[in-house]
Amino acid sequence: MQTYFFDTKLEYLKGVGTQKANLLGLELQLFTFADLLTHYPFRHEDRTKFYNIGEITEDYPYVQLKGKIIEVQLVGSGEKKKRLTAKLQDDTGIVELVWFQGIQWVQPKLKKGYEYIVFGKPQLFGRIFNIAHPEIELFLEHKTPETALSPVYSTTEKLKKRGLDSKGIGILVKNLLEIGYDKIPETLSNEIIAKYKFIPKNEAIKQMHFPQNPKKLHQAVRRLKFEEFFFIQLKLLWQKTVRQHTHQGQILKSTALLTQFYNNHLPFDLTNAQKRVIKEIYKDLCSGKQMNRLLQGDVGSGKTMVAFICMLIAIDNGTQACLMAPTEILAEQHYNGLKEYADKLKITIAKLTGSSKTSERKIIHQMLRQGDLKIIIGTHALIEEDVVFHNLGLCVIDEQHRFGVAQRAALWKKNESKELPPPHVLVMTATPIPRTLAMTLYGDLDVSTIDELPAGRKPIQTMHFYDANRLKVFGFLRKQIQLGRQVYIVYPLIEESEALDYKNLMDGYESIARAFPEYPISIVHGQMKPQDKDFEMQRFVKNETKIMVATTVIEVGVNVPNASVMVIEDAQRFGLSQLHQLRGRVGRGAEQSYCILITNYKLSKEGKIRIDTMVRTSNGFEIADIDLKLRGPGDLDGTQQSGVLDLRLGDIAKDQIILQEARKTAEELLDKDPNLALPENVFIKRHLTSIQQGGKVWSRIS
Ligand code: ADP
Ligand code: MG
Repeated sequence: MQTYFFDTKLEYLKGVGTQKANLLGLELQLFTFADLLTHYPFRHEDRTKFYNIGEITEDYPYVQLKGKIIEVQLVGSGEKKKRLTAKLQDDTGIVELVWFQGIQWVQPKLKKGYEYIVFGKPQLFGRIFNIAHPEIELFLEHKTPETALSPVYSTTEKLKKRGLDSKGIGILVKNLLEIGYDKIPETLSNEIIAKYKFIPKNEAIKQMHFPQNPKKLHQAVRRLKFEEFFFIQLKLLWQKTVRQHTHQGQILKSTALLTQFYNNHLPFDLTNAQKRVIKEIYKDLCSGKQMNRLLQGDVGSGKTMVAFICMLIAIDNGTQACLMAPTEILAEQHYNGLKEYADKLKITIAKLTGSSKTSERKIIHQMLRQGDLKIIIGTHALIEEDVVFHNLGLCVIDEQHRFGVAQRAALWKKNESKELPPPHVLVMTATPIPRTLAMTLYGDLDVSTIDELPAGRKPIQTMHFYDANRLKVFGFLRKQIQLGRQVYIVYPLIEESEALDYKNLMDGYESIARAFPEYPISIVHGQMKPQDKDFEMQRFVKNETKIMVATTVIEVGVNVPNASVMVIEDAQRFGLSQLHQLRGRVGRGAEQSYCILITNYKLSKEGKIRIDTMVRTSNGFEIADIDLKLRGPGDLDGTQQSGVLDLRLGDIAKDQIILQEARKTAEELLDKDPNLALPENVFIKRHLTSIQQGGKVWSRIS
């Protein structure tokens, strides 16, 4: 069997051998030539410049020093406490070098009276600067690097002990480039390379590791980032095309039921945005292809009604529809809201959640299988294996970020008859996602956006109060309740400090109960049984209780139009998108609504930006953008499990322009050459195929 050059195991590279190869695999997941080649340095340093010890300040991240070792000492005893220290002196001062590990390996190298080159991160301890685990080399053996930019590779203590510190890894990469440079295959077409004036692939990789100068490095980074985004986009678009070709969709054309509803029962005029997205969806439903569409719209933009109208189309055409929500509370609310309309239209509708009784379930299962039940609303319970449909035509998933891709896929197989095409899928999210992120996360979905709130909504007034002014806030709440309104008070509940957070919640509840003895109060949190939660929620919905004390379980979707104030305690502990979601719980009725953010005086810089942003704007997309910049995409809801954001070089927040170019290029390419069959695209096709086989975008260079 012929192995491809870059699939060669690392043990066969000059300077590696079996032991080091094993260690590289274990510690850094580097197994093949290709892995090493794409183990890019995470930064470059100027190793031609030396600093004077006297000029070091705490602002220096890394420094290179030249000096004499004047003292070497082994301090402390016992494995844990032992450390090796050495004093390094130049004409301007002294620093201390410290090792806690690998002492037996470093100590023999340190000779008093000799000159050394030292590199590391200085930290001030008392009055003397201290460098822990520096790189160190005898001046006599030091070779000035050829270029000013030396690569810095991530490595581990175990590898360092084997001589594979950053420098050691650099040597391996150099060895590899010596034998492999000419073999690195091009992955883009001449056309794309010419259009963006990219440097060739092999040159880009070489410059990425050992740049001749900053400009070359920049060119390398630009090309490799582009390529990373480009192939992710291409893969997503390719999947979409394949799906459209292989998965037929039922044609759902008839709209008689929709018209009946529209003319007789619709309680308000649809916004133009709602009308537009319904048209977009309808077009999909008639297309004969399976729909996979993301419906995004800010909180309160009326996504539920859009979903219901689409469900009516499905039913009108003899199919069934389901709506899946992430929590029981939400499922309950959707059910109650939609049942009213369904009853008027004489459409059968039911609810299925984790707490549905077995007897109930049995009936529901049977009715779904026979096609007697037209609409089913529920939670994850809908995915369970024994839920089978006679003919599921449309599946709506609310608040997508809580569902993974796998769950979406599970819904495709819900029809009893395998002859039937998979249902059309509409995914709704109220977490506005910046366009670029949506492209990457949901690159295989089509996107519709409701960018308009129903008329007559008064913008929510957002205010920031410090802890100390809590009494003022309570006074304000009392006035609102006297006006007939209801109030939410939300406490943070963060996993790491759960016990303490529950205590805060309970303390908070007690102090609120003391402050408002005249009003009934509800409390809802995650440790309550679903039925109890539900009961409390219903009391609040029915306006029996005036204050709802809760954790973020009420974050998503809950709709109580009479609630006009959202108080968020310890607001600095919430992420921006979460704050925005919470705020979206009010402002749903005709009255002026308020969001009050309470924090202590000690706000971090980032905490302050979050609070200020909330006070300044209620535009969900603007907030999402700032959130992305503050947190980086890794923290955004839903990105973790998606895996697509495992980028090696690119940064979704910072590289939006490159990402957009890559997306556009991929689209244009597939427009022109849908099967990537043209000779000029052979490199692209080959690389895409290897990605699809290997799973990882970067693991192979071929
Ligand atoms: P979200 O998009 O956050 O899911 P909902 O679907 O819960 O929003 O709608 C929020 C509220 O707005 C609901 O009470 C709903 O009945 C109402 N609503 C939806 N569309 C309109 C409209 N076109 N005009 C007035 N009110 C609307
Ligand atoms: Mg909703």
